[in-house]
Amino acid sequence: MFFIESLLEGMIFMSISINKDKCVSCGRCFSVCPGNLISGDRDGKADIKCPRDCWGCTGCIKECPTGAIEFYLGLDIGGNGGHLEVCDYKEFLQWKLVDRCGEVKVVRTYKEDANRY
Ligand code: SF4
Ligand code: SF4
Repeated sequence: MFFIESLLEGMIFMSISINKDKCVSCGRCFSVCPGNLISGDRDGKADIKCPRDCWGCTGCIKECPTGAIEFYLGLDIGGNGGHLEVCDYKEFLQWKLVDRCGEVKVVRTYKEDANRY
């Protein structure tokens, strides 16, 4: 029962997932999260205690220098179980969308134009 609930939760709710093998314990995601949801575990690696409290601002993902954080696209935001990764290339951010079947789409957003409407 617990397994089914966990599986269902993972499909439904957007959140982040942290790859601790890639985390270098820089702490940048700790300080940027507006909800203080991320802290260090016993080894100093990033850890999110309440992933369902994440409201998807993507601040931590954009801040991480090693790509250790992915944004999971749950059904609650119209996602289908894919995820989003971000790379910072100084003048632009490169967003890599990987859908549930592994298909990849890449979008670049230029920082200079990011807040223009
Ligand atoms: S996406 Fe935003 S709210 Fe969610 S953990 Fe990262 S910084 Fe916090
Ligand atoms: S920003 Fe990335 S590398 Fe730094 S602590 Fe967070 S997850 Fe680890």
